[in-house]
Amino acid sequence: MKYSEEAIWDILSEVEDPEIPVINVVEMGIVRNVEINAQEVVVTITPTYSGCPAMKTIEEDIAEILVEKNIAPFSIKTVLSPAWTTDWMTDEAKEKLRQTGIAPPVGTSSDKSLLMGKIRDIRCPHCNSKNTVMISQFGSTACKALYKCGDCLEPFDYFKCI
Ligand SMILES: [Zn+2]
Repeated sequence: MKYSEEAIWDILSEVEDPEIPVINVVEMGIVRNVEINAQEVVVTITPTYSGCPAMKTIEEDIAEILVEKNIAPFSIKTVLSPAWTTDWMTDEAKEKLRQTGIAPPVGTSSDKSLLMGKIRDIRCPHCNSKNTVMISQFGSTACKALYKCGDCLEPFDYFKCI
């Protein structure tokens, strides 16, 4: 193969997360592995959560950019296990979320209380207050919940794609 794995990672880092365009899918931890074998480039991705409607888009976007960069042949493999957790997000990605006015995810997908919507200590991305309350399970997209800060009174999205 005439490509290096590093070059493929670079190309993939140009793919934006459809939910949060300031973060790419590599920073997000969605791209799990890049492997170049004798036949093809294999990109392995893991959904942020299995029901996330954005995953189809991400797969299509990855395919599109690989075609655009003349990477061929390639295949995209989706693995569900081990499940994606917020630990896979880079600190830089979490900081970018905060700057966009979205509270970064807290905890891991194995934390059942998060899945039940009983989320504690979600900090306001505007003033860092913990005095926040969930207004709706669904924010601007299915992967976000709408919160409101009790101190600065600003509403904000909490990224719950976990
Ligand atoms: Zn606030």
